[in-house]
Amino acid sequence: MNKLIISNLNKTYPNGVKALDNVSIEIENGMFGLLGPNGAGKSTLMRTLATLQEADSGTAFLDELDIIKHPTELRKVLGYLPQEFGVYPKITAEQILNHLSVLKGITNTKERKELVKYLLNKVNLYDKRKKSVKGFSGGMKQRIGIAQALIGNPKLIIVDEPTAGLDPGERNRFYNLLAELGEEVIVILSTHIVDDVRELCTKMAIMDEGRIVYHGSPQNAINELNNKVYEKMISREELEEYNKTYSVISNKMVGGKPLIHILSDENPKNGFQLVSPDLEDVFFTKTNIANLKINNHV
Ligand code: ADP
Repeated sequence: MNKLIISNLNKTYPNGVKALDNVSIEIENGMFGLLGPNGAGKSTLMRTLATLQEADSGTAFLDELDIIKHPTELRKVLGYLPQEFGVYPKITAEQILNHLSVLKGITNTKERKELVKYLLNKVNLYDKRKKSVKGFSGGMKQRIGIAQALIGNPKLIIVDEPTAGLDPGERNRFYNLLAELGEEVIVILSTHIVDDVRELCTKMAIMDEGRIVYHGSPQNAINELNNKVYEKMISREELEEYNKTYSVISNKMVGGKPLIHILSDENPKNGFQLVSPDLEDVFFTKTNIANLKINNHV
């Protein structure tokens, strides 16, 4: 069992943006979802853990290993799949994995050959090993990205916004692969897509404006909202009025009309229906409500 302990990480960029504001989390083996809107600070945190950039203060330990003090040691046990995995267009899947294995220090030719074969099988690309990655679909490229992240038996795997640009079938295959990995090591999945976390993760954190605003299981967060979320279909003209009157957590267009979800301790009547809360309600409540309260004078 591995454990990642992040304590009081802070980072302010030279332009004054505080991207990490006293971030502390403990993460164990399994799939961990880091959910947050764009600009929340997820990539900054992922890049700090991947030792690609430095925090201003704070610590992060993977078991006994001090990540901040010993980045080279961490890199030996890290698999990182960045948002954009830059693949080399003219070479084959087999060549790219071979090349990256050399870079990761696997110098024994026989060992490397076996590893590349294992990785290609693992991500279901063995049949395509002689094909140029140039012609690969988005999902196949992501699987090459995962394969390279697995070189060297990592204890910590970080995937940053992995499903952008994948079609539903590719996304499913990618999910299955991640879920399998999560059984043995720590996998951190950073995403702004609520479905990614709902379908894959047993533990999660929600990040907003550099801070961890929730840490726990998706189900507990949903349970906290039981009997508090109401929905109503309204017209577009009414939206502004409802925003002023109620604590609107989301509005979604359904057949051209806004379907709003509101947060309320009591039954607001007025045509609202109580609904079973879902993770999307949690996400919007945790990341929006502070602003909404100010705007709505609740
Ligand atoms: P996320 O991954 O959740 O979208 P980021 O970590 O990319 O969030 O960004 C967090 C905040 O820090 C944003 O306001 C972003 O504009 C800012 N930011 C990110 N990288 C830099 C940088 N290199 N210089 C200045 N500001 C940055």
